[in-house]
Amino acid sequence: MNILVINTGSSSLKYQLFNMETEAIIAKGNCDRIGIDGHIKHVPSNGKPTLKSDIPLPSHSEAINFVIRTLTGPEHGVIDSLSEISAVGHRVVHGGRKFAQSVLINDDVLKAIIACVRLAPLHIPANLMGIYACQKAIPAAPQVAVFDTAFHLAIPDYAHVYPIPYAYYDEHDIRRYGFHGTSHRYVSEKAIDYLGGNAEGMRLITCHLGNGASLAAIKDGKSIDTTMGATPLEGLPMGTRCGTVDAALVSVIAEIEGGLSIGEALEILNQESGVLGISGISSDFRDIMNIAEFNFDEAVEVEEIEDLELVHRSRLALDVFKYQIAKFIGSYIVALGGVDAIVFTAGVGENSPSIRRGICDWLKSFGIFIDGDKNGNAEGNGVTDVTEAGSSVAVLIIPTNEELIIARDTMKIVFSTESRK
Ligand code: AMP
Repeated sequence: MNILVINTGSSSLKYQLFNMETEAIIAKGNCDRIGIDGHIKHVPSNGKPTLKSDIPLPSHSEAINFVIRTLTGPEHGVIDSLSEISAVGHRVVHGGRKFAQSVLINDDVLKAIIACVRLAPLHIPANLMGIYACQKAIPAAPQVAVFDTAFHLAIPDYAHVYPIPYAYYDEHDIRRYGFHGTSHRYVSEKAIDYLGGNAEGMRLITCHLGNGASLAAIKDGKSIDTTMGATPLEGLPMGTRCGTVDAALVSVIAEIEGGLSIGEALEILNQESGVLGISGISSDFRDIMNIAEFNFDEAVEVEEIEDLELVHRSRLALDVFKYQIAKFIGSYIVALGGVDAIVFTAGVGENSPSIRRGICDWLKSFGIFIDGDKNGNAEGNGVTDVTEAGSSVAVLIIPTNEELIIARDTMKIVFSTESRK
């Protein structure tokens, strides 16, 4: 059984085709700059050459059609016909209050997803375009929606209700939803397996640290709190997003900038803030680290003064990032009544020893210690245990795999639906 996983952004579409017997990736790729000009990268796993090409992609529909032609084509293809795609799993960013689990897409589900546009106006329209395009291009394949918010829907009311007038919650569904749910779910399941397999009583804090970043507090295998909120703007500082700040800054920034609209001020908090805003360098952590590692002692030229300012700001951006993460971890230790393991995942969490070390340095008073050598040399696909001997809490690195969770959920739902027929 082959499952196609689709993850659409406003101008992008990522895909992976899985063979579910082995969970191997048969092909993967991405279409970028959809609606602008268009670029595709397609990587087959059967020895055929990678395709990298600029091609016009006016809409998601054209992108899906191109992907399908490529998957079945003679030069870069991996399957003979579309009938070899048994089902399609879609990442859907927001499921509102309705979806606590992945679901087979039908007209009612589509209506409910459309009702979530108001909660994620940048993401849901793109997700819907991906679904419509696949329904049209592969009509025989059942389509499944896997929601970023679903894993967090069970967060208790005292942690998901905002202290704002209750009618916004009651009548308009405004609450903490949280995101990156498939990632937090995947790495927490892996961590539980690694730590003996019994979710009951297990207390985890999972740190998804990528361009977008969020933490989740997980007890008994369930999310009980998370840092992102009604939208993905809340919580940790991120590549370009500010995370949690004083809400009044929206009007303060609007005024400083000479009378921006609320939307324009929010754009600054979404697109120009986070580590990009502080460093002035980049939203990419590797770029910031490169500058932050600059050696002051070797800088003698007066012209380097401006560069030195950027070094300070890059270091500050990383310090703010690490501090805020540690601060939220502290609060989740309270929420969980202790902690058994801290789990790092996603681009920064998996690959940056210095960020992991910097966060753990704040946590020593909780008996959390990371091993210098293991942390520095960590690599690999499975669970990497970087706990220092004597630490009372495990520190783990677990590469995330959101696409695999989407493929697994899709297979489970399609199989159980077929078996009920
Ligand atoms: P993601 O959103 O999970 O793909 O993560 C992307 C982020 O991970 C980018 O900001 C990258 O700079 C960062 N990243 C990837 N590799 C490294 C690394 N070796 N050290 C620091 N940051 C990294």
